[in-house]
Amino acid sequence: MAPPVLRSGILKIAPYVGGEAHAPGAGRLARLASNEGAFGPSPRAVAAYQAAAAEIHRYPDGASRVLVEALAERHDVDPRLIVCGNGSDEILHLLALAYAGPGDEVLYSAHGFLVYPIAARSVGAMPVAVAERNLVADVDALLAEVTSRTRILYLANPNNPTGSYLPEAALMRLHAGLPENVLLVIDAAYAEFVSADDYVTGQDLAVEASNVVMTRTFSKVYALGGLRLGWAVGPAAVIDGLHRIRGPFNINSAAQAAGVAALDDTAFIGAAVLHNHQARQWLAERLGALGLVVYPSEGNFLLVSFEGWADPEQVRQYLKAQGILVRQMTAYGLPQCLRITIGRTDELEWLVDALSVYPR
Ligand SMILES: *Cc1c(COP(=O)(O)O)cnc(C)c1O
Repeated sequence: MAPPVLRSGILKIAPYVGGEAHAPGAGRLARLASNEGAFGPSPRAVAAYQAAAAEIHRYPDGASRVLVEALAERHDVDPRLIVCGNGSDEILHLLALAYAGPGDEVLYSAHGFLVYPIAARSVGAMPVAVAERNLVADVDALLAEVTSRTRILYLANPNNPTGSYLPEAALMRLHAGLPENVLLVIDAAYAEFVSADDYVTGQDLAVEASNVVMTRTFSKVYALGGLRLGWAVGPAAVIDGLHRIRGPFNINSAAQAAGVAALDDTAFIGAAVLHNHQARQWLAERLGALGLVVYPSEGNFLLVSFEGWADPEQVRQYLKAQGILVRQMTAYGLPQCLRITIGRTDELEWLVDALSVYPR
């Protein structure tokens, strides 16, 4: 007999490699590789997490009731249309499990978030990468790739790692052009950071349409990536399906408590968003002044092209040797680029100083 055989497609998954977190030999560290919160978590979230410690022998509330109510109130949406996930990654995977399988196709834009093709392949479906235009999702190209086998279209808005976004009108046009049986998943992980005034999260569409889900996360502006907490809004039928297949206790009790506290700390979030706007603009200007190409970004990161400037991998190693960690972009098909998270001001000044004296 032969050993058990992995389902087809699984070995085609290029394992997701996260941003680096260590720089051996370096003293000081600036972790700008994973789009984490610049200021660490809200002290109120930390206090709630610690307070939950004495009760960790208890199973969590499987429905995450308090958290769902808090989200519903903050975002003005019916709590019955919300589901929480162990990170929004879990929700992206559950959607693939619920709606796609062998023989089906899953669309995403070519430089979209890498979890989408992984989720598609993990259920045996075929991920279809659709070319972008100047690193922006191309509505017409996406719609042109829809076939009778298409089940899901994943769109990060704004997108990681490009930082680009589709304005409301383009998003509506994308939805209007999709057959009703294709699920549009709008991944709004960076929604809080957007400054463009023609942006919408997609929540209204997710409430009104029968084939739209919007996913959100506590990993970015709420700075709780280590706890794994995300949520989604969608049609009752979709949310019902996700509840049926999710783990019965998918959100641990500490994450539920910290999530509620983080949501409450509006001053902390406001300060994080304000810093991001100012520092993002400052960093883009400084990098531009060094002769680098910086793509416009609505997220808490900048995509920077080193083409004609220096070899990005050598630049990344040079920064890493000093303790500054930024993200490699080869897995995203952007080998000429690095992605830099908007960290604290002192970290960004350090980065700019280091690049200013890069020996090229
Ligand atoms: C970071 C990120 C997420 C969030 O993932 P979590 O599992 O909630 O930590 C989702 N989508 C995109 C595009 C991201 O960059």
